[in-house]
Amino acid sequence: MTRRTGSSLVILALGLVGLRTAFVGIGSAARGSNRVAMEAERKFIVGGNWKANGSPDSVKALIEELNAGEVTSKDVEVVCAPPFVFLSEVQGALRKDYSVAAQNLWDKDPGAWTGETPAQMLSDMGIKWVILGHSERRENCGETSQIVAEKTKFAVDKGLSTLTCIGEKLDARESGKTFDVLDEQLKPLADILSEDDWEKVVLAYEPVWAIGTGKVATPEQAEETHAYIRKWLADNVSEKVSESVRIQYGGSVNDKNAAELGQQPNIDGFLVGGASLKGGAFTTIINSV
Ligand code: PEP
Repeated sequence: MTRRTGSSLVILALGLVGLRTAFVGIGSAARGSNRVAMEAERKFIVGGNWKANGSPDSVKALIEELNAGEVTSKDVEVVCAPPFVFLSEVQGALRKDYSVAAQNLWDKDPGAWTGETPAQMLSDMGIKWVILGHSERRENCGETSQIVAEKTKFAVDKGLSTLTCIGEKLDARESGKTFDVLDEQLKPLADILSEDDWEKVVLAYEPVWAIGTGKVATPEQAEETHAYIRKWLADNVSEKVSESVRIQYGGSVNDKNAAELGQQPNIDGFLVGGASLKGGAFTTIINSV
């Protein structure tokens, strides 16, 4: 609560001069205080993407470390995403104040789909979350922005909440095309999701050049891009969605850099890869807010 209230006060104090203001603008005192209230309602959310890592022994050990971690903030939601083969075990053994996510789903009803895991099976198992559109799936499995949007819609219709990933590659960042890439990734989502659907969608902004590279976006780069995404949502979906959707930052977040990134007013959480495999570091990230 301290973090959100503190940053809200800073935004109010800075008025029209901050980055957030540059993109979003504060039209009147009434709108400004409404925005502050919405920001306070965006509960910080930290996701751990375990990717295709883990063995029976290491997963047991990680669950034990996470269960032993002392979470000092009540204002953080935590979601852990193990590989499919460990979903059941993690769902059963992980502390109940953390949720469990799948890293993908099949957007068809159960049936003759060898090797796939339909959304319905996840929700029947009590899984509440799914990561969609991770850059590794876009790159390695040919998932286009249209496919990611359709999967997001399907997941929401099946009662799942999504961590839907977007983000530019290095060449786009360096050639000044970041916002064009984000526009292309966001447009199919805006086209397919209703305003109510957005309540179950968290956007994870993950610059591809920062994923698994140790090269983290600066707080200013991340904040500028998050503010852009929020403005895009205001212009292309609605003011309500723009103010309520949580936007995570992902890309080499660790226990050392999380606190500063988390102070940015438009960063509402993290999606963490490598550091989520270390119980102590992940707990520090959760507590950094
Ligand atoms: C990710 O895979 O979503 C990710 C952000 O990885 P890392 O934290 O290791 O960069």
